[in-house]
Amino acid sequence: MADKPEAVQVLYCSVCSLPAEYCEFGPHFEKCKPWLIKNAPQIYPHLLTETNEKEADKVSSQLQSVGLSSGETSSSKEEVKRLPDIAILQQLLSSPSVSNE
Ligand SMILES: [Zn+2]
Repeated sequence: MADKPEAVQVLYCSVCSLPAEYCEFGPHFEKCKPWLIKNAPQIYPHLLTETNEKEADKVSSQLQSVGLSSGETSSSKEEVKRLPDIAILQQLLSSPSVSNE
């Protein structure tokens, strides 16, 4: 029954036209990344992690600028970055506004 390897589908990258597994060896890996994240995340799971970290950074800085913080962070990296900002915020909140008048 298993004499034909039909079930094995090679996924070709539409960016560099190499099989998705070989994109990282190709000349356009940087350009391939978005395509790979969409179409072959199982081959390059670390790309998803990279993206998520970047997205998380973006979101957390947005949250900080708005003054909201959920306090729920899955990445410890993000926490380390966030701590100094919270300290600054607390300083600002605890110290009465300095009168410059
Ligand atoms: Zn590619």
